[in-house]
Amino acid sequence: STDGGTHRRVLLKLSGEAFSGGGGLGVDPDVVHAIARQIAAVVRGGTQIAVVIGGGNFFRGAQLQVRGMDRARSDYMGMLGTVMNCLALQDFLEKEGIETRVQTAITMGQVAEPYIPLRAIRHLEKGRVVIFGAGMGMPYFSTDTTAAQRALEIHAEALLMAKSGVDGVYDSDPKHNPDAVKFDSLEYAEVLARGLKVADATAISLCMDNKLPILVFELLTEGNIARAVRGEKIGTLVNH
Ligand code: UDP
Repeated sequence: STDGGTHRRVLLKLSGEAFSGGGGLGVDPDVVHAIARQIAAVVRGGTQIAVVIGGGNFFRGAQLQVRGMDRARSDYMGMLGTVMNCLALQDFLEKEGIETRVQTAITMGQVAEPYIPLRAIRHLEKGRVVIFGAGMGMPYFSTDTTAAQRALEIHAEALLMAKSGVDGVYDSDPKHNPDAVKFDSLEYAEVLARGLKVADATAISLCMDNKLPILVFELLTEGNIARAVRGEKIGTLVNH
């Protein structure tokens, strides 16, 4: 539930940028290890957790397009980048003793299972973490939208949007405006109307249409994923 109770099943969205440990390229194993420890603690507490990871630490299709590449092809590069993040997280989760399956929207049998929603649910019921890679498998979409779609398809109770370096949604960028004000809660329509940086509009409207609550919170504070799962008042809650 979103009224203080502990969630039974959640979808956790991690930005790719977090994985590089500070905006650079590639994966910082120490950061991934710390994220895996947080997720493992939540799984041990009995919550089912599925994960979608972005790929911004490798490629963003829109950025490559600006540099002259074909958009669809660069989006596929972006999707492949997310898979590397998935494998890194899988590795550290298994080192924590948590069984983990990666399912990708682009088939790559040696590396991961294909995306099979009912099988993903079975994994979750057995206490395994399921990590969804390669986004939706379609150019022009984002991993935010993937996170919303997967959350709905596996019947997650909430979409937990973990951000690195910001602890919620503000009325302006707190990195540039010291007077920026943080919201405790927001309605979907307000997020869309004001263009607030929660997720892209496709993801927000998908959540709005299906009444899926979104919690935006800071990822790298130890214990924050568990707090989010328990429904504690951290970050910004977006609902109707
Ligand atoms: N992408 C895509 N379709 C999807 C998901 C992702 O084309 O369904 C591509 C897109 O180019 C995107 C990149 O993968 O820029 C990386 O994902 P995203 O930008 O969402 O990562 P994040 O910003 O969360 O790190």
